[in-house]
Amino acid sequence: MFDIGNVLEPKTIDEAVEMYNSNPNLKIIAGGTDVLIKLRHGEMEGAELLSLRNIKGMDEIKMLEDGSISIGAMASFSQLFHSEIINKNIFVLSEAAVSMGGPQVRNMATVGGNISNGAVSADSAPTLFALNALLKLKSVNGERIIPITEFYEGPGRVRLQPSEILESIIITKENYNQLKGNYIKYCNRKAMDIAMLSVAVVCKVEAGKFSDIRIALGVAAPTPIRCSEAESYAINKEVSEETIKNIGQYALKASKARDSWRGSKAYREHLIDVLTQRAIKEAIKRAGGNGNE
Ligand SMILES: Cc1cc2nc3c(=O)[nH]c(=O)nc-3n(C[C@H](O)[C@H](O)[C@H](O)COP(=O)(O)OP(=O)(O)OC[C@H]3O[C@@H](n4cnc5c(N)ncnc54)[C@H](O)[C@@H]3O)c2cc1C
Repeated sequence: MFDIGNVLEPKTIDEAVEMYNSNPNLKIIAGGTDVLIKLRHGEMEGAELLSLRNIKGMDEIKMLEDGSISIGAMASFSQLFHSEIINKNIFVLSEAAVSMGGPQVRNMATVGGNISNGAVSADSAPTLFALNALLKLKSVNGERIIPITEFYEGPGRVRLQPSEILESIIITKENYNQLKGNYIKYCNRKAMDIAMLSVAVVCKVEAGKFSDIRIALGVAAPTPIRCSEAESYAINKEVSEETIKNIGQYALKASKARDSWRGSKAYREHLIDVLTQRAIKEAIKRAGGNGNE
């Protein structure tokens, strides 16, 4: 059924990067929910797989000493939304995780695989963009840490260097502490569907004004995007119906939506405006405001 050449199963990340470096033709497999489908469709005939499943601790979600939260690349979507650390501190990420696939897929699919496959519809991406998440990448040359906003190159393409493995995702304390958010995934069906459009907002409101706000969109451009102009406009503006309407328009300006069989460009543009406003209002409610501005 699957035309697989060989499967290597390292027990440590160091062993994994050594194996990958010795044979750059290896294909990494994490949960396999994308890779196995490609194999099944004959797109990777005779592929040699480098499985990360036996690497102890690579699925761990933990609070670091400096208050940063580290999410192992092998953490599944089920682990994410069941994690006490995530639910208590970054509820919006848990919300994004539970919106993904169905229970079986969430049990297998990893957050690392979701980001590394470069899909513009990846459900974890907009929220991680909004949280200024950092990616810890490992190779035989050592470690490098880059912002997730610099990781995506184009549809299905990410900036992993040869023989590099995504080890974990880090969200520093200042990027989640006292921020409340909302993730909205819009699909043609209510369950088991890929996003037609998605929006993640995190914000902080002080003295009736936005003291921090980040807006990220999925499926609104060739890669997930942040809406920087909308964010700059909103900072220190009074939280009002008019401000939120204008933010929706700025978010639209940041987008490069296109037609696809899931939805037309015009429909996506309508969703960007409306859902951005809706996500901001929900985030404000969660931050203690009434969201009825
Ligand atoms: C029925 C079904 C429903 C789905 N629904 C959704 C959905 O609602 N939302 C959504 O976002 N996705 C969905 N997906 C897509 C898929 O499940 C996700 O993208 C998933 O997160 C991929 O993770 P994985 O661990 O299974 O990746 P894999 O299939 O193991 O790998 C995916 C890609 O990433 C690479 N890779 C994996 N881990 C690493 C790493 N640590 N370092 C470097 N490269 C790595 C692999 O080489 C491969 O190219 C669905 C898939 C199926 C089959």
